[in-house]
Amino acid sequence: MKILHDQQVDEMVKTIQNHATLHGHKPISPRVIRAIRQVQRHKFVEISPYGDHPVSIGYSQTISQPFIVAYMTEMLEIQPSHKVLEIGMGSGYQAAVLSELAHEIYTVERIPELAQRTKQLFETLEDYESIKIKIGNGIEGWKEHAPYDRIIVTATAQELVPPQLLIDQLIEGGKMIMPIRKSAGNEELVLITKTGKTYTIKSLIGVRFVPLVSD
Ligand code: SAH
Repeated sequence: MKILHDQQVDEMVKTIQNHATLHGHKPISPRVIRAIRQVQRHKFVEISPYGDHPVSIGYSQTISQPFIVAYMTEMLEIQPSHKVLEIGMGSGYQAAVLSELAHEIYTVERIPELAQRTKQLFETLEDYESIKIKIGNGIEGWKEHAPYDRIIVTATAQELVPPQLLIDQLIEGGKMIMPIRKSAGNEELVLITKTGKTYTIKSLIGVRFVPLVSD
């Protein structure tokens, strides 16, 4: 079993690097790859955990293919001292990867049952008990712990401009990565850097996520 698992992880890492090259990106850094190797994806994602495609995590939600998780994590350039906020905790896999890179991770999920399931998983696995979870609408961020050095949104914003409350909760020079819907069936990842009262926004790659629900 162990050998099969190690082979699957090796294969996943190879696929992640192939996608990076195909997108004209340099290979994902050893630090991010180490974090990805550290997290047992099959504990978070039951069906086809190491496959090169998005997978259902229940409650009509999906988690991205491993490359997208790696790529978003890489683009954030996370340092150990960073305070990181995730919007859309889902299975908790992305949060677990983030927790291998920075000490302070906050994550928000709007579906209470899913949040509860993931909370229990973190407790069972023991490694992730330091991740702070809030049930609620992530579009509002998590003001009590702001400002954040980094924000990652793992559901697609339906407006062309990123949620202002999230920008407000970023530190000066902080970065946020999120998918934004450009038009029907056309979503792209953008990297936002806060500069003073405003921000710069850079388009990265085309993606497909579940919608960021605005209730
Ligand atoms: N990062 C997750 C991916 C989950 S899919 C993982 O590693 O598994 C996106 C998640 O965003 C879903 O769980 C969905 O319920 C949640 N979501 C959608 N809109 C939201 C909102 N406004 N606030 C918080 N969570 C939201």
